[in-house]
Amino acid sequence: MSTADTLQGFKRDGRVVIVGASLAGLRAAEALRDEGFTGKLTMIGDELGEPYDRPPLSKQVLTGWVPADGTTLPRRRDIDAEWLLGVPADGLDLANNHVRLADGRTVPFDRMLISTGVRARPWPVEAEAALDGVFVVRTREDAAGLQRAVAAGPSRVLIIGAGFTGSEIASVCRERDIPVTVAELAPSPLVGGLGAMIGEIAADMQRAHGVDLRCGVKVTQLEGDAQGRVRRAHFSDGSTVDADVVVVALGGIRNTEWLRDSGLAVGVWGVACDAGCRAFDLNGLVTDDIFVAGDVARSPNPMYEYRFISLEHWANAVEQAEIAAHNMVSTQANRWPHLSIPTFWSIQFGVNIKSVGVPTYADEVVVTQGSVADHRFVAAYGYQGRVTAAVSFNNAKWLDHYRQLIERAAPFPPPCPTPDQPLDAKPVPVDFPGPTLLAQGATVVVTGHDPGERRVTAMRQHR
Ligand SMILES: Cc1cc2nc3c(=O)[nH]c(=O)nc-3n(C[C@H](O)[C@H](O)[C@H](O)COP(=O)(O)OP(=O)(O)OC[C@H]3O[C@@H](n4cnc5c(N)ncnc54)[C@H](O)[C@@H]3O)c2cc1C
Repeated sequence: MSTADTLQGFKRDGRVVIVGASLAGLRAAEALRDEGFTGKLTMIGDELGEPYDRPPLSKQVLTGWVPADGTTLPRRRDIDAEWLLGVPADGLDLANNHVRLADGRTVPFDRMLISTGVRARPWPVEAEAALDGVFVVRTREDAAGLQRAVAAGPSRVLIIGAGFTGSEIASVCRERDIPVTVAELAPSPLVGGLGAMIGEIAADMQRAHGVDLRCGVKVTQLEGDAQGRVRRAHFSDGSTVDADVVVVALGGIRNTEWLRDSGLAVGVWGVACDAGCRAFDLNGLVTDDIFVAGDVARSPNPMYEYRFISLEHWANAVEQAEIAAHNMVSTQANRWPHLSIPTFWSIQFGVNIKSVGVPTYADEVVVTQGSVADHRFVAAYGYQGRVTAAVSFNNAKWLDHYRQLIERAAPFPPPCPTPDQPLDAKPVPVDFPGPTLLAQGATVVVTGHDPGERRVTAMRQHR
């Protein structure tokens, strides 16, 4: 049988399993059906209920504008799938092509998609994390609980971590006039994603809205009362803050533990795959039948020197899912690379922040249009003399122009497209804080001598 016949047979009668039934999983399933896949489709998800959208959880759900159960993702089409929900996948057997579920069942497949995303990094001391009033925000249930706590009018909310989620939650609390302390180990909010210059602007914004912002300090302990309710936080500089709601916003952990013994290239930054979403095995060889999409994927982007990039962006999850689905049912010659330029948005303190490109892939940044003082501007990021990203504050209509500059590898600093370039605009070093986690993938050892035998094996981490 020819490759084309085999592919047609798979499209007609094959079995696809998608592990991770959320944004990327659902959009991939819809795209598979759009692409003419009529075989068996199984969705495996550890959460119960319909797939839902996460961005509103730290925004409209928290303000009470949208109820947590009103975030269900709109369906683009019927996907005619078997749904196995409320049970996590626990293992992947590549030799026998099946997924193991935590309840002991096995689910066979011909091709599968891994879209297990990220979970919230919990507060590291379990007993303190379990105190009443301590929250993370990743799921619908998390957001509903925090919304109730915020609506009850707490005396103070402490937010640990001033990344995008922590800053958005601080903003909602200040809108409701709730006293807020934000604790951030780095020198300013958003600095890890957008660098020092934008971090300073974000810090000014928070303080202007009445946030008690404490940067360069670590929360060392959460203290509860006799009823097990959080009451106070201790800081590394010896100070304390009394708070009855604490939000732990320390970023995410990629859901890859279930793949530990699978033989795939899995690490703290996710599951490595090629630009066509096909997973790499431990040896760095691309697999044929295993695809990856969304927050859990880590793939090389040709626009960024083929570096492996992991993104936690909504639009990336959708685009990657569609590419993975297309490639699953296409011959090699018809496969697509995932070449889109990343985009991200956030709303906080009355400002609509949007970015295009990869701001962390930069050595310089310059304000190219508008006014920082009015919080209406665009800043362009450059790496070794070419434009690699841009961020806008209340000025998103220009981002498409910058996306085109990035795609053309246009010289940095770019000329201002409007007459409102700040007169003193000069590129400055972008200045990201050092990584707290090393960018490590799987730790492996090489075995074998003959070229036909040489393979790598995963090693357990030694501490
Ligand atoms: C509070 C919040 C605000 C956000 N705001 C923005 C924003 O403003 N802009 C933006 O671009 N992005 C935002 N994001 C990020 C965006 O929501 C994610 O990029 C998107 O959800 C990624 O989708 P995904 O399907 O890859 O992963 P996820 O949405 O994480 O879904 C993965 C699914 O897999 C399940 N799963 C995990 N392990 C297993 C297993 N072993 N077996 C079965 N199922 C499993 C998980 O429970 C989950 O249901 C936000 C995220 C959060 C949490």
